[in-house]
Amino acid sequence: MQKSRRENRRIFTGGLLFLSTLVILLTAIFANQDQIKIAANIPNCQGQILSAETENKESNNQEKKKINEYQVPILMYHYIRDYDNHDDRIGINLSVSPEIFAKQLEWLRDNNYQTINLDDIIDMRSFDSTQDQNHKFVILTFDDGYIDAFANAFPTLKKYRFSGTFYITSDFIGHENYLSWGMIKRMNKSGMKFGGHTMTHPDLTNLDDEQLSREIVDNKMIIENQIEKPITDFCYPSGQYNDRIMNKLKEVGYKTATTTHHGITNQNSDKFQLPRIRMTNNTKLEQVLK
Ligand SMILES: [Zn+2]
Repeated sequence: MQKSRRENRRIFTGGLLFLSTLVILLTAIFANQDQIKIAANIPNCQGQILSAETENKESNNQEKKKINEYQVPILMYHYIRDYDNHDDRIGINLSVSPEIFAKQLEWLRDNNYQTINLDDIIDMRSFDSTQDQNHKFVILTFDDGYIDAFANAFPTLKKYRFSGTFYITSDFIGHENYLSWGMIKRMNKSGMKFGGHTMTHPDLTNLDDEQLSREIVDNKMIIENQIEKPITDFCYPSGQYNDRIMNKLKEVGYKTATTTHHGITNQNSDKFQLPRIRMTNNTKLEQVLK
């Protein structure tokens, strides 16, 4: 009788132990999933920080480093697809195969790069340079909103817990070879960012005021209505811009604009003339990011 009661107690304790382990395990899994979603926004990653100084935050006593100097490469992608039509040199130059794209992301991860977003470079103080000094920052951008952004880029970005910014030409959405709003909403929910790329991809420098307003303001409103978030990042179609266009972007609430100029962004870069690195199948990251 005594023995059987002891056995019962042992079984009961064992069951309790099993249950609590299960609960802890499940909590850890769910917490980890959340972390995957917000990986791009972790504020304590560290990068190519060249100079920082300590500042006291008024709201709490935590010391944070104000980052004065930094280098953040912005990579420019278009299509992520296998493409070998040699009569279409432009198409080939704008395409990176899914396999090579995955290798490029793998290289970035293996070399301690962490994705941040364009709004992060407005104020680098959100990053805590007291943390791991080995981390470096990179921004991934995808122009035009081609359908392979969903089919090929998105799953690979998720696999590496990276974030990307996708510039949307809104009149093309839902057309053959372009993203649908449904796809954009799913990517948005998983932490991907979106930016403006006009309604019809014109050369903005040739437009009158009314046309310019439609291309910039309507495009911004349409994307914001769909994803239910403000968008603050713009990309000039075919890299064409001038002072009038930059002023228009500032007037309607944009905070950054990317160009097709080659270079690595740093603390001195004009936020409305951000340089980028054009990515192809042959780009050697170890050479362009050194
Ligand atoms: Zn474009």
